Amino acid sequence: METLTTEEKAYLLEKIRDIPDFPKPGIIFKDITTLLKDPKAFGYLMNHLEDRYKEMDIDFVAGIDSRGFIFGAALADRLGKGFVPIRKQGKLPYTTIGEKYALEYGFDEIEIHIDAFACDKERPNVLLIDDLIATGGTATAAANLIDKSGANCIEACFILGLDFLRGDRELKKITPVYTVLEVH
Ligand code: AMP
Repeated sequence: METLTTEEKAYLLEKIRDIPDFPKPGIIFKDITTLLKDPKAFGYLMNHLEDRYKEMDIDFVAGIDSRGFIFGAALADRLGKGFVPIRKQGKLPYTTIGEKYALEYGFDEIEIHIDAFACDKERPNVLLIDDLIATGGTATAAANLIDKSGANCIEACFILGLDFLRGDRELKKITPVYTVLEVH
């Protein structure tokens, strides 16, 4: 498997824009729209993800609402696999199963269609993907939801990791974690 060169990583990082105090004071929002609109950057990234995952025994790619849909759907198409959305509560139209997770204040919930991973395999392999891992709460809930749905989360993949938050600590207990770019 080819790894990204230091220059390619630097190019990708440079294309992610920092928006201070969004959506609330104290948060530096990592804006990936500036990466997506640059075909060279998006191309480096998608080539790398395709190369990493093309030999793995993946049956579905599952993306987390909402920026995980962009990378997940593009990757699923490149791998010739199905794409499954994991959505915020109340957004999916068919029967769902959900998983609650704790926020700083209160709870949130993500959902998946009950038949999302129905196929001819008893326990299909699912690659989970999102744009960013911060505290890891959303992704850990998503990996638990995949398990509850009767599938196996083969890996959780993030374009960007805020590694000072150590958000992958809990997640690593249930699935391997791969982060393309780290912010220290
Ligand atoms: P967490 O559950 O704390 O790991 O948060 C991850 C989710 O929130 C992902 O779906 C991210 O898209 C989003 N998110 C959290 N922090 C940021 C940030 N600083 N910049 C952009 N997105 C973020």
